[in-house]
Amino acid sequence: MLNEDYERLKEFYIEVEDSLTLADYEYLLEENDYHICYRKSNEWRIKTACHNIDIKDAKPNLRFNLESRVFTCFSECSCSYNIFTLLQKRLSLIGSPKTSIEVLKYVCNYKGIPFDFKTKEIAPNNKSNWKKILTKYSSKVIEREKVAFDKNILNQFPILYHTDWLDYGISEEVLEKYNIRYYPYKSQIVIPCYDVEGDLVGIRIRNMNQEIDIKYKPLKILDGTEYNFPTDDYFYGENFNIERVKKEKEVWLVEAEKSVLKAETWFGDKNITLGLYGCHLSDIKLKKLINANVNKAVIMLDSDFTEIGDNIPYNDFEKRVLKIANKLKPYMEVYVCYNNLGYDGYKFSPFDFTREQFDKLYESKEHYS
Ligand SMILES: [Zn+2]
Repeated sequence: MLNEDYERLKEFYIEVEDSLTLADYEYLLEENDYHICYRKSNEWRIKTACHNIDIKDAKPNLRFNLESRVFTCFSECSCSYNIFTLLQKRLSLIGSPKTSIEVLKYVCNYKGIPFDFKTKEIAPNNKSNWKKILTKYSSKVIEREKVAFDKNILNQFPILYHTDWLDYGISEEVLEKYNIRYYPYKSQIVIPCYDVEGDLVGIRIRNMNQEIDIKYKPLKILDGTEYNFPTDDYFYGENFNIERVKKEKEVWLVEAEKSVLKAETWFGDKNITLGLYGCHLSDIKLKKLINANVNKAVIMLDSDFTEIGDNIPYNDFEKRVLKIANKLKPYMEVYVCYNNLGYDGYKFSPFDFTREQFDKLYESKEHYS
């Protein structure tokens, strides 16, 4: 399949999705065991047929945001869906898996929208297309096989929310959504890391012991097991936020998990931040952004300097930002949001400031050209 056909197909998915009315959503959900339990003005709560074969056991933990049309399962799946991926999840759960094209065809058929793609040509999965696009830029995109951990591992850590994070301004609701836990023995906040499919790909910790310098690192438990993972392959928050990023075609790139959680507290389902697990944008992460049709990226690294100007900390900060900006530039508009207003906040992420200051920093973000 040619790249242009693939691009056309991606647009077609969006067109079909945009054509769906709430009545259509209701029909498609109910037809596929997603029973709507109750409706509020901005969201529906739906039975989690995404991970319960028998829907009698399902609780209404699947949320449908009426504005963004994004589904979020915040229990077992821990990820977001659009209507196609949500239907696909149910079909594979009940043992009759369908390809995404088959699900698209099913929705088109219901809506009476002609489907004029030649399925045979579409059949190969789209990985190869991304390779083609990215080879223009880099030939070194290495695809590693995913390793997923058993989610039950998390149950050994109590659901305790550290006062530092609550005082910092992350809500309990957000900590619950992201399944944040605590490791009392080591005074560490436990941060599960999921991929877009909601698989637990790793677990990180935030040290709360002031005497330890390294803030974030992989979780290591007493028997020596370490839950590390290739952080180059994933964004923190992609399980929930990539669907919204796709809708907005915009992404905010931050360094740490804490910033993603603070952004979620401020913006709720409109959160479009993704955490880099550091300050490096790998080829795989870039590929994910291109795949999500992002056309605007705002780089929001920590402002690791005290003064803007010709000094080592500022020059280093600039170097880190430019490295990411240059990588994104061929594919999208790039902006940089940082402490360019002289606020007091050494090493602050834009989300470490007050909401008012954040809004001002966002307004004065700089276009990278
Ligand atoms: Zn689910």
